[in-house]
Amino acid sequence: MSRPLILITGGSRGIGAATARLAAARGYAVAFTYLERTATAEALVAELEATGATALALQADVSVEDDVLRVFRELDTRLGPITALVNNAGVLERQMRLDAMDVRRWTRILATNVIGSFVCAREAVRRMSTRHGGAGGAIVNVSSMAATIGGANEYVDYAASKGAVDSMTIGLAREIATEGVRVNGVRPGPIHTEIHASGGEPGRIDRIKGAIPMQRGGDPEEVARTILWMLSDEASYITGAIVDVSGGR
Ligand code: NAP
Repeated sequence: MSRPLILITGGSRGIGAATARLAAARGYAVAFTYLERTATAEALVAELEATGATALALQADVSVEDDVLRVFRELDTRLGPITALVNNAGVLERQMRLDAMDVRRWTRILATNVIGSFVCAREAVRRMSTRHGGAGGAIVNVSSMAATIGGANEYVDYAASKGAVDSMTIGLAREIATEGVRVNGVRPGPIHTEIHASGGEPGRIDRIKGAIPMQRGGDPEEVARTILWMLSDEASYITGAIVDVSGGR
């Protein structure tokens, strides 16, 4: 059997990079996208290749449809067929109340976190679904606990975008349940990555960890292990499920 091929959006850092490393260790050929940090992406490719893995980094903004279409064409010609998609690329902006936000910000958040995930899911389904002649596969959408707790005083827009991702996970899973493609989600709690700096508070986890039942932030690897499990045959009867990886939060 040919080796499985995984595409991870936003795979150069944080949770995406941990997922890329674990997928490579489990025998996947790994393709990932990144937005702008080319050196970071290339360093990860070199690291994975040094272990004997096949790795490919592609610059793409998931909020731009043409970029996503180019990524899937590259996969088709260089590595395909795709068997697993992780919709991981996601952004937030500086913490503020909703009454201080503007439409530019909402457009960016929703275009990246929601529409980016939709376009990638569409392209993956067109290749993996047996209805389209594919051999099946699995999708994991990376949501956030913010979807359930709302992001008050920080980023209600980000939280709402992740709520939309959760709805897509459930609906798409049911839509294609007989077509060999499972669709699941993970909802991380506060995880040690650079995303908190982009919200303007690099030390955010230290501030809020007392409110986490396990009293600590999570590591990207703890999310990656859940993602790889949901993609694997170990989860063969699971679709439309969303697992909280949040220390009980
Ligand atoms: P991160 O450390 O900020 O890394 C973001 C990654 O996404 C980077 O590879 C970045 O590329 C890429 N990226 C950013 N915008 C992109 C775009 N428009 N198109 C394509 N790629 C893009 O993020 P993270 O903390 O690992 O978060 C990963 C996912 O987990 C996100 O969906 C996030 O919402 C979710 N999540 C995170 C936490 C947490 O506490 N960390 C909690 C809940 C949910 P460059 O390196 O080129 O910038």
